[in-house]
Amino acid sequence: MTFLLIDCNQFFVSCEQVFNPRLIGQPVVVLSSNDGCVVSRSKEAKALGIPMGAPAYQYADLFKTGGVYVFSSNFALYADMSRRVMEVLHTLSPHVEEYSVDEAFLVGSPEEAPSIREKILKWTGIPVSIGIGKTKTLAKVANDLAKKSSSGILELLDEKTIDAHLEKLPPSEIWGVGSRLNAQLREEKIFSALQLKNASEIQIKKRFSVILLRTVLELRGIPSLSLEEVPEIRKSLTCSRTFGERLTELADIEEAVASYISSAAEKLRAEELFTSSLTVYITTSPFLKPPDYYSNALTLTLDEPTSYTPLLITSAKEALRKIYRKGFLYKKAGITFGEITSSRVVQTDLFSAPVVNEKRKRAMELVDQVNHTFGRGELRFAAEGFTKKWKGAKKSRSAHYTTRWSGLLEIKI
Ligand SMILES: [Mg+2]
Repeated sequence: MTFLLIDCNQFFVSCEQVFNPRLIGQPVVVLSSNDGCVVSRSKEAKALGIPMGAPAYQYADLFKTGGVYVFSSNFALYADMSRRVMEVLHTLSPHVEEYSVDEAFLVGSPEEAPSIREKILKWTGIPVSIGIGKTKTLAKVANDLAKKSSSGILELLDEKTIDAHLEKLPPSEIWGVGSRLNAQLREEKIFSALQLKNASEIQIKKRFSVILLRTVLELRGIPSLSLEEVPEIRKSLTCSRTFGERLTELADIEEAVASYISSAAEKLRAEELFTSSLTVYITTSPFLKPPDYYSNALTLTLDEPTSYTPLLITSAKEALRKIYRKGFLYKKAGITFGEITSSRVVQTDLFSAPVVNEKRKRAMELVDQVNHTFGRGELRFAAEGFTKKWKGAKKSRSAHYTTRWSGLLEIKI
């Protein structure tokens, strides 16, 4: 028996293409829920140089000149398509684990892969890639390679083939190994996934954690990870808003940014997550022309993974001060937490124990508890401000933005 990881290709874009086949072969992007950044791209959009997470306002010109079809997220549609794909899988095997909206593990034989791929395509219209391995971790590695192959299917079953691939990968490319762990592994002279696979069990257990040990065993083809133990972790968390009125003063924008941080950090804590990177961006209306147009973003790498609001606010203000320029009419600001890791994993990692400061943790728990009981914002950080000049009516905010986008980016069919 082997594990098959079935992953929908460019899922959101594929969903749009199912209902609009003329989009196939075209540069297509789907934006995040607030139209902030690119969350899904077709191959053709990728070829134009549009990176994942590209802020839409920065790429507005390229969208236009490149003839890019731009869509706001239609999560109701994607959820429905996801359900259809999963239903097909459940008819094909009794052993299916739905891992994320567009990924599932299936226990089966490698020979089944082509027909699974064909059936999903035929019955739902969604193209998928299938990675096959003796463990989930190896199936994940295989899937990354399958995406680049022409058949969309790749198996990593033969020891030599496995080792040849693992040798080329840094440990951070392996499921469950983040960039932070990667840095620690480098200190131990483990630079490739193959070295991680061959590392001494005692060394891994002593220096790291039992969780990483399971990953090592998985790389060796010994099934050791169950999905329940590795919950899906969001890749990033964004909070951005169009201001109620145009803002010019740094202090007002600082208040807004602090408030976005506060609400996003609360979400982090609720999901038991930490972030170790923080991006702040500000922009005037994207429809202004220079010299009135200005937008900028800055990403800071934090010293340690955290969900501690005061620390995050301080960092965000630092970033904001660097990108803020006087004399512009700012329309919108936003923050994104990247490099998200589970705070539980960090806590169980011996070497990260000092990261979890109990005092801070209790303070944040109190804030969250009060806000949960009395409504959000009841207890807030002074930096969030009390005037809330930046706050506007929600309704007009998002609707305005969407209307303008669709006005600008006409779909020619
Ligand atoms: Mg996918």
